Amino acid sequence: MEHLTKKSYYELLGVEPSATLAEIKKAYKERLLNSHPDKTQRTTRDNIVVELKTAYSVLCNDEARREYDDEVQRRFQKSGLISSGEGLDVVTLDDFVCDVEAEGEDSIATFRKDCPRCTAQDGFVLTDNDLEDNGTPDGMGGYEIILQCSACSLWLKVQYYEDEEEE
Ligand SMILES: [Zn+2]
Repeated sequence: MEHLTKKSYYELLGVEPSATLAEIKKAYKERLLNSHPDKTQRTTRDNIVVELKTAYSVLCNDEARREYDDEVQRRFQKSGLISSGEGLDVVTLDDFVCDVEAEGEDSIATFRKDCPRCTAQDGFVLTDNDLEDNGTPDGMGGYEIILQCSACSLWLKVQYYEDEEEE
């Protein structure tokens, strides 16, 4: 499962798998600028820059990109999760509505989101426990969970950070 939930190079750069070389170059430059040290923690930033460089070096090379596409395709087919090889839509917990319920001494937070495709109400639901038990480190200081709509076949990737301070 580990490499399955890791971001693809396309997702890292924020481009479509069909992006042209010019689009990839542009996205790469923008991402590098966005990871300016003023905006991100230093260690996180270093990791991001390394990942961006790796992604870019593969995607800007025709042959390496073809090999990478093949590999991604195989990986997704093997998992059975995604057949098209397309990237998943990525959302964060900020896109969810959060309810906190007291349960004895504890409180349980539930995150709900309507499905952006079939508009099912609360098509996506996550609890604190899901986040703690089922998250996969994304390699950049955060975690992610892949979640399917309860009413249709849409999958979303939810990115979040553990132990978020609530002020
Ligand atoms: Zn849906």
